[in-house]
Amino acid sequence: MTVFTGSATGASAIYAEATTELARALAEQGVEIVYGGGHVGLMGTLADAALEAGGRVRGVMPQSLVDGEIAHPGLSELDIVADMHERKQRMAERAEAFIALPGGAGTLEEFFEVWTWQQLGLHRKPVALYDVNGFWQPLLSMIEHFVAEGFLAERYRQALIVVQTPAELLAALQQWAPAPAKW
Ligand code: AMP
Repeated sequence: MTVFTGSATGASAIYAEATTELARALAEQGVEIVYGGGHVGLMGTLADAALEAGGRVRGVMPQSLVDGEIAHPGLSELDIVADMHERKQRMAERAEAFIALPGGAGTLEEFFEVWTWQQLGLHRKPVALYDVNGFWQPLLSMIEHFVAEGFLAERYRQALIVVQTPAELLAALQQWAPAPAKW
C-alpha cells in the first residue's frame, strides 16, 4: 500500500493518532507500506508506528531530499532514486493501492497524479482518501463541484474510496472495481 501524507504533523494530535492506528492495522494485516521515506511529520509517525507493530516499511526518496527530510534510519528498505519523478514512479509501481492521509500541497500533488492516472486507465489500482477529522471534506466539496459543473464524470467520483477507519479501508479495497477508462 502506497501512503501519501504530510511532512508536518498538523495542528491537532488527532492526525498523528489516526495515522498510528492505520499504520498498526496495515502492519497487522501484513501489508507492506511504501511511502516517501522521511522521518518528519506524519510520514515519520506512519513509519514509526508500522515498524513498531512489526510491519514492513519501504521508503522511496530522491538523494536531494535524503538530508532535508531526514531519511528514516530504521526502515525495512530505503530506495534512493534520482529525482521526484522517479520517486513517484517507483511508489506507483510498488503499490497495490494508494491512500492519502492528511497533508499539504505535496500530498495533494501525489494524490491527484494517481487518481487522474486511474481515470486515464494508466493503472487499475484503488485510490483512497483517509478522512481523519473531516480533513478532506473541503476537497470532497470541490470534487462534487467538478461533477456538478460537468468537469468530472460521476463514475470517477464513485471510484474514489473515502474512509474514516482502517476497517472501512480494508473492506472498501476488497470490494473495489475500476471504472471504465475515460478514452
Ligand atoms: P506536504 O503534504 O506538502 O507536507 O508534502 C508531503 C511530502 O510530499 C513532501 O515532504 C515530499 O516528500 C512530497 N512531495 C512534495 N511535493 C512533491 C511533488 N511535486 N512530487 C512528489 N512528491 C512531492
